[in-house]
Amino acid sequence: MSDHIRLHIPGPVEVSPGTYEAMAAPMIGHRSKDFVKLYDDIHPRLQSLMGTEQPVFLSTSSAWGVMEGAIRNLVNKKVLCCCSGAFSDKWVEVATRCGKNAEALQYEWGTPVDPADIDAKLATGEFDVVTFIHNETSTGVMNPLAEVAAVVKKYDDVLLVTDTVSSFTVVPIEFDKMGIDVLLTGSQKALALPPGLAIFSVSEAAFERASQMKDRGYYFDFIEFRKNQENSMTPSTPCIATIYGLRHQLDVIFAEGVENRFARHEKLNNTVHDWVRSNGFEFFAPEGFRSKSLTCLANNKEIDVSKLQKIMREDHHLAIDGGYGKIKGTTFRLSNMGDETEETIGNLLSALDDSLAKL
Ligand SMILES: *Cc1c(COP(=O)(O)O)cnc(C)c1O
Repeated sequence: MSDHIRLHIPGPVEVSPGTYEAMAAPMIGHRSKDFVKLYDDIHPRLQSLMGTEQPVFLSTSSAWGVMEGAIRNLVNKKVLCCCSGAFSDKWVEVATRCGKNAEALQYEWGTPVDPADIDAKLATGEFDVVTFIHNETSTGVMNPLAEVAAVVKKYDDVLLVTDTVSSFTVVPIEFDKMGIDVLLTGSQKALALPPGLAIFSVSEAAFERASQMKDRGYYFDFIEFRKNQENSMTPSTPCIATIYGLRHQLDVIFAEGVENRFARHEKLNNTVHDWVRSNGFEFFAPEGFRSKSLTCLANNKEIDVSKLQKIMREDHHLAIDGGYGKIKGTTFRLSNMGDETEETIGNLLSALDDSLAKL
């Protein structure tokens, strides 16, 4: 691992040696008692982290699998997609490719979603699903989940699908209390696991909708997931090694304490923010809506971002992100999610000091 480039990109993030060790446990059959034991061990802890009594499912796919699955299981009339960045924008296209009616509630990248706009759209009665990204990883904006959930809750026939891929276990999320209908996350972001596993929960209202839905497919069929979960199993052979890793990360999360984990993310994020300010950079996201898991910097100083990345990689063995899609180069991103510590973030920032001086 000596020439390993340590990841400070916002996904996949750095995976700890302890996680890799846990993943190297011997393989088991996915219909065996050992698997049932494994699922039973992690399930209540996932419920607790999601704030739900609903079943929590393990999908052997990246997050997009479940994002598309939610569309196929739930959209009858029309889906309102809250769009304010790369991931949220793409959801419209995914829905359209699934043959569904979709409308974008479009914001400039970097602008948070406004719950009042969702309210106005839903008041038309045209929609039966809203897609919402809590933490838009491409722009570093954390959208107001509680406020959005409260608005959608006013409409009995509208289901709220929420992506928490880069905010799950970073800030508190209350599935049952907030009235979310699908909550999904992926393994390679805030959970600091290798990619390949998505985790999600589904409300009773969403199960009800799904059970009436034609053409919801098989691989992401919510009803199929529920039937299997009742026996602590998954519909098809899951990525067992990654699930071993998940069990390990849950041990780590609960040993640290969930509140302490939230506080650590906040503190490390503040450390990065202080560095941003003291170096004369600006934030891409407005005050009050900045992600706690990563920082998206506006390149107001017009530095050569790809050169900065190269120096970071070659001189410090660190990978940072050079901006996503259409904001590549005009922004760049630093991740503090997962297992980061004061030491690793300190190293990142001193490496940035050194690299900026060499530009
Ligand atoms: C990374 C990311 C995704 C997509 O995850 P995949 O693992 O590539 O499917 C979706 N939403 C958000 C907010 C993300 O950060």
